[in-house]
Amino acid sequence: MPAGSKVLRSASALVEAQLIKPQQLAALKNVASRYAVAIMPAVADLIDTAYPHDPIALQFVPDERELESHPEESADPIGDDAHSPVLGVVHRYPDRVLLKIVNVCAVYCRFCFRREMVGPGRGALTGAALTAALDYIARTPDIWEVILTGGDPLLLPPRRLKNVITRLAAINHVKVIRLHTRIPIAAPKRVTPALLRALRSGKATFMVVHANHPRELTDEARAACARVIDAGIPMLAQSVLLRGINDDAETLGALMRALVECRIKPYYLHHADLASGTAHLRTSIAEGQALMRALHGRYSGLCQPQYVLDIPGGHGKSPVGPTYLSADGSQITDFKGVRHVYPPRSPD
Ligand code: SF4
Repeated sequence: MPAGSKVLRSASALVEAQLIKPQQLAALKNVASRYAVAIMPAVADLIDTAYPHDPIALQFVPDERELESHPEESADPIGDDAHSPVLGVVHRYPDRVLLKIVNVCAVYCRFCFRREMVGPGRGALTGAALTAALDYIARTPDIWEVILTGGDPLLLPPRRLKNVITRLAAINHVKVIRLHTRIPIAAPKRVTPALLRALRSGKATFMVVHANHPRELTDEARAACARVIDAGIPMLAQSVLLRGINDDAETLGALMRALVECRIKPYYLHHADLASGTAHLRTSIAEGQALMRALHGRYSGLCQPQYVLDIPGGHGKSPVGPTYLSADGSQITDFKGVRHVYPPRSPD
């Protein structure tokens, strides 16, 4: 793919890079004026333009269908705003908060659940807002874990990231720092020794990388993840179940295996949120459950993420199965789909 070394940030740039056709330009300019577009060179290089439904293109190249909204969709599908006690903090669960320090991303996912909140020009928390957010965390002793998210926190320059992490680590009751990011995959060169030094704080630190298709785990991305893990930061992965991208057992299984081979534990498989203009990428929950059954039947336990739904309105994540135990607890289904009575009846 002839993307060169530029970040593609507009519909016109996508035409130049031959990722969309000139006749799509007008419609996709409208999409790009509503929802941010950015495709890093490492990601553009992965797109196979010969394939009309390339799973990498579907994730990042805008689509006219994004302008179609449905009544069940919303600008804040997981209800961040309803649980934001101060700017930049989302306090949904008792023992942990999100700290949204930056509202820009290296790439903009077409299914993003925060698509109305992230984008160029939305910047980072100001110094005063960051101090207010850290003050909230400091005066709330129930907060055991802080999740740096955004946007993508690893887009902050290492010195600024270090400053945030050092200040968080100084809060005694904060025992765990977690970072949610796309950077090791979307911009692996940014995983530098300076960045890794910035993450060192003495507190338990985890990195959760977002990956949806096995092709995202290029040699360069794998090397970047290895640098993180070798620096003492365990990695987990979160993926979103997406129509046409990873909604078949082979692709999903290959993704989970590739992650585990990189020493990354699959953590969540998110059911796609009801974000505006994303219906064409969503599956049904029944389809997701069938895929989880297929994973359970064919792949190692290490390759099993938890399938979760963020309940609209800000009510948090809940696992959405499938379940293997019958409602009355009398039967259990095995990995081949065979039901067994539990406890087994003793032979007479
Ligand atoms: S990286 Fe995360 S926050 Fe950024 S566009 Fe993708 S899903 Fe949204």
